[in-house]
Parts: sequence; structure tokens; C-alpha cells
Amino acid sequence: MKDKRTGFIHRLFSYVVGKQSDTQPSASKLRILSRDQHTVSSRHISDNALKVLCRLNSHGYQAYLVGGCIRDLMLDLHPKDFDIATDATPEKIRSLFRNSRIIGRRFKLIHVVFGREVIEVATFRASHHAENDEHDSSVSHHSKKGRILRDNVYGTIEDDAFRRDFTINSLYYTISDSSIHDFCGGVQDMEDQLIRLIGDPVIRYREDPVRMLRAIRFAAKLNFQLADDTAAPISQLAHLLKDIPSARLFDESLKLFLSGGAENTYYLLRDYQLFDSLFPATHASLKDAPDRQQIIVNALRNTDLRIEADKPVTPAFFYAAMLWPALICLCERYEKDGVPPASALQQAATEVIAQQCKQTAIPRRFTIPLREIWEMQSRLERRQPRRIDELLSRPVFRAAYDFLLLREQSGEQASGAGQWWTDYQESSQDDEHQVLMEQLHSRSAPSDKRKRRRRRPRKRPGTTV
Ligand code: ATP
Ligand code: MG
Repeated sequence: MKDKRTGFIHRLFSYVVGKQSDTQPSASKLRILSRDQHTVSSRHISDNALKVLCRLNSHGYQAYLVGGCIRDLMLDLHPKDFDIATDATPEKIRSLFRNSRIIGRRFKLIHVVFGREVIEVATFRASHHAENDEHDSSVSHHSKKGRILRDNVYGTIEDDAFRRDFTINSLYYTISDSSIHDFCGGVQDMEDQLIRLIGDPVIRYREDPVRMLRAIRFAAKLNFQLADDTAAPISQLAHLLKDIPSARLFDESLKLFLSGGAENTYYLLRDYQLFDSLFPATHASLKDAPDRQQIIVNALRNTDLRIEADKPVTPAFFYAAMLWPALICLCERYEKDGVPPASALQQAATEVIAQQCKQTAIPRRFTIPLREIWEMQSRLERRQPRRIDELLSRPVFRAAYDFLLLREQSGEQASGAGQWWTDYQESSQDDEHQVLMEQLHSRSAPSDKRKRRRRRPRKRPGTTV
């Protein structure tokens, strides 16, 4: 895939005469790639996005496709979504499209809705600095640490280009002549396979610390390198992520790990000391027992394979694996203090999930199955014959069984339970089931036997002792 992309980029650049320097992009260097100098074609652009562009243009407004869609199309990848930037105000855009709504608190944006597809349309915005806030706090507002809290200053296309995060995310495509407009040196950085933050990296990370995570995400997804000055301040500023709302960080965690390149993302987050801010308890538990990261690495590898094969991935399963080392660590501590194993697991699960939600607010619809996956583990290992069919019928069974296999694959001992469950599900004949059940009855399970108590006969009403 990478070779194909590299070849493509070199073909693209063989058209383009002259190279820009490697230094920070400067405001004056607009570079325009005409239709024959790039291979982004309207054939690969969503029809709905084209409709929105056409309508804006026909009412006299500028309108460009920008961001990830152009970046991905230039790299021969499938864009996740199509974003448009325009000089029309949100109210104007809203009035042009009946199927639209204004959204956004930090930024006012328009969503034009076509069934399941949403085209995001944003008015060109200017970046502005913290020192300007005192002049007009109604349009922009920064926190004491320089973080942008509100940002609705409109501007020109050039302003808009410079307030974006990375140079490769700041390329503008117009359908009027199919050209690409590059204000920040993004075309050069595409050729050099570099993720470069626009402007002063320290200021830009302070404005929005999530940009540090985005830098890692794009580096991992595209297999690009971080430019030196983009990489340099990250470790020192990583702590700023602690101030980001946990709901936003939850969304970001899914984008980081559930859209391809997850294993690579994990290593980069650890290298740049960002992992600790996202998963503090896991990070701490791996310090004591580094071998425990194997389950994370294997889970992320499997996730990447599933995404490549277009199979679904679930946040509950991902979080179950990511927090497992922290859960085990806490369970062991409780057990050492004399808490019985079942209660230790319950208490540790509650605590680990609550702690994690302070960092990344995992919604309840995911914490419930995540907990169930954990709680099912000992039951799947124990395989009480009477409960086999009931366990199999649970909605979470599949995920819990996959998790059991993942644990075994990662070196944990589960007394061969994974293989047993595989055999049981694969055997279709009654007699095969019989053999597997006999195996269970015949295996030495002293803990099971100990628990089996003879029931006292029920007292009949009216009888006396
Ligand atoms: P993808 O959708 O593939 O994850 P993307 O680059 O399109 O990647 P989006 O989150 O959809 O990412 O954002 C669209 C564009 O908005 C980006 O390409 C970038 O130009 C701009 N953008 C997004 N987040 C930020 C940010 N935190 N700071 C500055 N610009 C941003
Ligand atoms: Mg996008």
C-alpha cells in the first residue's frame, strides 16, 4: 500500500516544477496545482458533496473541498467524509439547504444531511491569538493556558488555511477548474511524507492539545513521519491533555484505535509520552509488569486485521483489552488484602472503569458489555456443565469468548478453556457434545466439588422441627 502511495506521489510531483524549502511554511506562498498536475478526480468525490459545492458556487460563493478528503484522495485512500469550506456565513448556508442544520458550540458549522451521508460545511475562519481576546470576547475566548474555548472569527480562505492543524490537512480543491490550492506547503509535505503542524507548534498545541493526538493518528494511519519541530514539544506538553473534556477524549480514543494503524498508534503514543494521559491506570500497571502489554498489542493487531477485512470492531472489546492489565493489577492487590476473588474482580472493575471515565468518558452502553466481558472470563474458564447453554445464549458470549482466546494467545493460562469452547461451538452432533460434556465431568475440578453442597430437604408447611 505504501509503495503504491509513494509511487503515486512521485508521479504527482513529476508534474510539478520547482520545490519549496523544508522550512516552516510562510504566508505568501500560494501554490496552485492545476487539473493536470494532480490526480484528484471528481469521480472519487461524493455526489452529495459535489451538489453542495455546485449550489454554493451558483449563488456566488467560493466553496472548496478541504481537509482529510483531499489528503486521502491524493494518497489514493478512501476519504472518511467530505468537508467543505466556504465564504458564505452559517446562516446563508443554512438558508441555501433545506436539509441542513447548524451545529457546534466551539465552532458554528453546518451539516447538510443526505440520508446517511452528512456533508460538513464551515465558513472560512481566521486564527487569532490569546492577546486579542480582550478586544472582542464574544467571538473568541482562550483559557489561561492558551487553549481555544470559543472560536468564531470569520476570515479569508488564506486565514482559514493557516488556522488548520497540519499542512497536509490544508489543501483546497475547487470544482470550478479542478485545481488544488496550497497555502501552507502541504503538497511538499505530502511528497516528503511529513506531518507538519502549521505555525508555532508550542502555541498550536497549547491552543488545542488534541492536535498532539491527531499528529500521532495521521503519522500512524499514513505511515508518515512527524516533522522535527512538530515532534519536539509533544512529550513536554502531553500533560495538557488532562484538561481536555473527557467526552472529546473518548471520541478521539476511538479515532486513534479503531480506524486502522492501531498497533503503530500505540507505540507512538508511548514513545511520545501521550499514553499516560489517555490511559493512566494501564500505563502505571505496565510499569510494574511490562509483559502484560502483550494482550494490548495482540488486541490492536487483531483490530487492525478486522478493519482491513471490513469487519466490525467494538469499543467495549477494545476497552476491555486496554484496561485489562490495570484490572489484573488491582484485583491482585485486593486478593492480597484478603478479598475473595469474585468480589475482588467486581470491586476492581468498578474502580478501573470509574478512573478511566475521568480521562475518556466511556458511555454506559459500552461500560456495561465491557464489564460483562470481564465477568464472563472466570465462568468461561470454570465451564460448569449446568451453565454451558446459558452462557452460550448470552449476547456478550461471542465477545467474551474472543477475549478468552485473546488472553490465551497473550500467554495467560486459562486451563485450555478457549479450545474447549471452540470445539463445543464447532461440534454439531449430539454425540460430540456428549463427549465434550463428559470431559468436563471427568476433569478434576476440586473447587467445583468443594462448592457442591447437598441441599437440605425443604420443610413442608405445617411440620415442626
Ligand atoms: P479524518 O476525517 O480522516 O479522521 P480529517 O483530517 O478529515 O481526518 P477531521 O476531524 O474530519 O479530520 O477534520 C477536518 C479538517 O478540519 C482537518 O483536516 C483539519 O483541516 C481541520 N481540523 C480538524 N481538527 C482540527 C484542530 N484540532 N485544529 C485545527 N484544525 C483542525
Ligand atoms: Mg474528515
